[in-house]
Amino acid sequence: MTKYKLEYIWLDGYEPTPNLRSKLQVQEFATEPTLQEIPVWSFDGSSTRQAEGGNSDCMLQPVALYPDVTMENAFLVLSEVMLPNGTPHPSNTRATILDDPDAWFGFEQEYFLYQHGKPLGFPKMGYPAPQGQYYCGVGFSKIGSQARQMVYEHLEICLAAGINHQGINAEVAKGQWEFQIFGKGSKKAADEVWVARYLLERLGESYGIDVEYHCKPLGKDLDWNGSGMHCNFSTKEMRERGGKDYFEKVMMAFDHYKNEHIAVYGPDNHLRLTGLHETQSIDKFNYGIANRGASIRVPHSFINNGYKGYLEDRRPNSQGDPYKIAGRILQTLATV
Ligand code: ADP
Ligand code: MN
Ligand code: MN
Ligand code: MN
Repeated sequence: MTKYKLEYIWLDGYEPTPNLRSKLQVQEFATEPTLQEIPVWSFDGSSTRQAEGGNSDCMLQPVALYPDVTMENAFLVLSEVMLPNGTPHPSNTRATILDDPDAWFGFEQEYFLYQHGKPLGFPKMGYPAPQGQYYCGVGFSKIGSQARQMVYEHLEICLAAGINHQGINAEVAKGQWEFQIFGKGSKKAADEVWVARYLLERLGESYGIDVEYHCKPLGKDLDWNGSGMHCNFSTKEMRERGGKDYFEKVMMAFDHYKNEHIAVYGPDNHLRLTGLHETQSIDKFNYGIANRGASIRVPHSFINNGYKGYLEDRRPNSQGDPYKIAGRILQTLATV
């Protein structure tokens, strides 16, 4: 028998943004365990805003398993929170997503690295040089001294875990970064975004660096970009049949449900979707070919392929719940 370390990960009940929580259990297995062999576990929901003290047990239902190469014989166990009767807890947004194995999602997670209450690399007083040279930049004056090491280490841990991490870039503001995650199926990319967020925050502990997911941490009045989480999406219909007619119907549905989309695209998005800094303003919906100031960007390739392929919804923000975002997009597509 071998002792395995199982780090159960779940989302707590905080509003509007859940926090990641985890606890580790050691279990013996004769051979490397599969998801089906990982036991259901419980936790004290009264400490996570998921239950009252008098009746505090919530259940952790394992839904995906990722090798954790930072330890020997270890797995990350992504879990859904269930009520003791086995039905999904109200905070369990994953359970609400329409199942579509042919839906593909690619999330571009932007975030700031923070230290001592400021973006990493900001001076003690005042501000660094204005935006311009930080995006995809190289060199100490642009990147600082720990950031690249941390985000590249994060990449290695994600890849070793089987997460479909697709790339990294330094972003427009100093201390701001992005990673991209792509997955086939309604939940796969969203699952992996949550696990990648978990791994990034956990890694930050050893660097003394926090991850700031707020969409406009430096406020809306200064000339520093906010953070988004662009959601690239496609369905089988969009990839294989497509057509201008269908595309226009999809855009009409997105226009019709624009408020419902904004409602789940992350808190404080009015601070970020101002019409400036490569965004459309929060109360408008539009789309545009290769237009980074539109709500939805239509890639050139989409038009060139006869209105087939994927679209980029640029409105979701860095603090949004990818389960809610993917779920809302599928819900709107289902009306077309
Ligand atoms: P940009 O910064 O120019 O918006 P990125 O390269 O950062 O572009 O992100 C593009 C995203 O689109 C990637 O996450 C990629 O996986 C995703 N993507 C590509 N093709 C598809 C597709 N057919 N369906 C859904 N997402 C896709
Ligand atoms: Mn990008
Ligand atoms: Mn970006
Ligand atoms: Mn993008």
